[in-house]
Amino acid sequence: MGLIDMKFVLMWKQKGGKSVFEEEYEKSRTELLRGISTDGSKLSPKRLVDFWSRSIIKWFNETEPNPKAIPRQYVSSRLIDEAPAGAAHDWEKTNLVTIMSGTGFYDTYKCRVCGVTATRYGTGERFTLDKKYAKTAVYVRCDTAAAHLAKKAASK
Ligand SMILES: [Zn+2]
Repeated sequence: MGLIDMKFVLMWKQKGGKSVFEEEYEKSRTELLRGISTDGSKLSPKRLVDFWSRSIIKWFNETEPNPKAIPRQYVSSRLIDEAPAGAAHDWEKTNLVTIMSGTGFYDTYKCRVCGVTATRYGTGERFTLDKKYAKTAVYVRCDTAAAHLAKKAASK
């Protein structure tokens, strides 16, 4: 573990607003622990990031000098996966702003390596492969998907 060992995204919106804003952070566990008011030594990385994100939003609202500024509301946070090793897709978000729909919000992604596309609903860790790819097991892993797509391209 290096000095910076946690990469995560903090999502917030303006009170009463619909658009979700995302901010990316890189912090060490020590820095995160310093930023929360409870003893976080036993917290999992996900929980620690969640605590820290909530308190930074609170701090932001409390220290905002403009009395007319719209307060920020915490939406959620998520850890960003470490560099993928073969099997895992390397997801890159393809929509600029999180998409709101009747049932919640979602983001669309494309793998930087093999090019398959997926959707991530809400704030979960799960990526759902798009219909085109979901039916074939070969696309679940990045290495097999890349090999399969290369073969397909060559046979055309
Ligand atoms: Zn991939």
